[in-house]
Amino acid sequence: MTQPRTNFYACDRASLEAAFVAAGFDAYRARQVMKWVYHHDLTDFAAMTNLSKAQRAWLATTYDFRLPEVAACQTSTDGTIKWGMRLPSGELVETVMIPEGKRRTLCVSSQVGCMLDCTFCATGKQGFNGNLDAGQIFSQTILANRELKARGDSGVTNVVLMGMGEPLLNFDAVITATSLMCDDLALGLAKRRVTISTAGVVPQIHRLADTTDVALAISLHAPTNAQRDSLVPLNKKYPIEDLMAACQRYVDVLGERRSITVEYTLIRGVNDALLDAKRLAKLLRPLRCKINLIPFNPFPGSGFERPSATAVRDFQTYLLNHGHSAMLRTTRGDDIDAACGQLVGRVEDRTRRQERYRARLAAEAVEHAESVSRVNTVELR
Ligand code: SAH
Repeated sequence: MTQPRTNFYACDRASLEAAFVAAGFDAYRARQVMKWVYHHDLTDFAAMTNLSKAQRAWLATTYDFRLPEVAACQTSTDGTIKWGMRLPSGELVETVMIPEGKRRTLCVSSQVGCMLDCTFCATGKQGFNGNLDAGQIFSQTILANRELKARGDSGVTNVVLMGMGEPLLNFDAVITATSLMCDDLALGLAKRRVTISTAGVVPQIHRLADTTDVALAISLHAPTNAQRDSLVPLNKKYPIEDLMAACQRYVDVLGERRSITVEYTLIRGVNDALLDAKRLAKLLRPLRCKINLIPFNPFPGSGFERPSATAVRDFQTYLLNHGHSAMLRTTRGDDIDAACGQLVGRVEDRTRRQERYRARLAAEAVEHAESVSRVNTVELR
């Protein structure tokens, strides 16, 4: 029986080089192939003329090129584009491109649904249906670039892993995908232009600090544990003090010229009071960070409301007056449900079976993440 081929888009430079060497070829041949694929947009191995016949034959039996199918594409009045990408399982994940001046920021999904169940996020409400693999994460950038090019637009300039899912609970695939995003022989973005956003999986933030130096965003949303426990259930496992310590460590890895982003979704009557701003300013004082304020984006049945424009402005002003950088993230693409927290794809199994599955997976994933991170820490010592 013939072996199934490996998806080329799921392989970063290191793994390709290793495969070439194992097959008896020089590692630099892998780099030549990457150039063909990503710089010359060529996926026909037979046409890669600087490789030997034997190498081309080996490539053709070893690799293929698999992209998710683009099942839907909607464009907002503000230029935001949202794609629904269909996976082989039939499920849809969403990817959003937000144009802003010369920037083309792509908001990429890392999981089908999410297991963290943050109370104000539509993705969490629909349950968890699995991880994307590295190829499925990375190829969202390929598909977006193709579409942008077809529209005569410039390509993706920034990537944020702020779509569906918790990137740090799909660690290995996310690392491979971000390494392709940052590789000059693939997408070639600077590391500060690729951001991993996390709800605060503390051991995995430490592991990230040992692995890479891409940009990091933390979804904080509350200055006290009592408030955060009710918004981000993961906080009960990893309280704010532990999260802040992990952030501090990551900032140290980034070095003096870079900082991390703190995301704070403002919800009326929940975390938008001046006392909250005051506590937040104090909590973040020691941390080199930029605060991103996101007025809550409503979705049916959420039970939460967006604060008034005045409350948002007062909150921001307090932070600015107390030495913080605090940006207001304007709502983009909400006419096509592409704004933060509105991504749901089409994963709507709400049966009890799904609930139990999700709870079990959440417990397992966190345990697994911790054990992997423990192993890593031991190896590093
Ligand atoms: N799991 C990751 C990435 C996905 S969420 C994380 O938690 O960071 C991306 C951002 O959108 C997070 O900061 C999240 O808290 C925010 N968000 C989720 N739902 C939202 C909503 N309804 N309105 C505004 N922001 C929301």
